[in-house]
Amino acid sequence: MVNSCIFCKIVAGEIPAKIAYQDDLLIAFHDVHPQAPHHLLLVPRKHIATTLDLDASDAPMLARVFSAAAQLSRELGFAEEGFRLVNNCNRRGGQVVWHLHFHLLGGRDMTWPPG
Ligand code: 5GP
Ligand code: ZN
Repeated sequence: MVNSCIFCKIVAGEIPAKIAYQDDLLIAFHDVHPQAPHHLLLVPRKHIATTLDLDASDAPMLARVFSAAAQLSRELGFAEEGFRLVNNCNRRGGQVVWHLHFHLLGGRDMTWPPG
């Protein structure tokens, strides 16, 4: 737990969030400023600042991100129509919270290239 980290505080239950999924490695909760009808954040329980800070020991957590995203998309009813699973890394990637997370966006058409 990093004291100044908002996602560590959500993981610890110190800040409320609308949690949609949790297991021993991950939690997923609804984004406070949704960019699509469905917008969830998949967040490792362990504090990892960015994609660049991952190492081989994080492989099980990363695999879980994909299985949790598939499960959530099915449960929320947008699996078959499609969705986007995206990670923003550092300033030019658009990262604003320095605790690794993956956005799961569904319920509307996504554009390409992204902005
Ligand atoms: P980033 O730009 O770092 O990839 O995305 C951070 C995301 O976290 C943003 O979409 C933002 O709306 C969301 N966010 C920031 N603070 C909170 C919070 O306290 N609660 C929730 N549920 N989402 C948050
Ligand atoms: Zn953190």
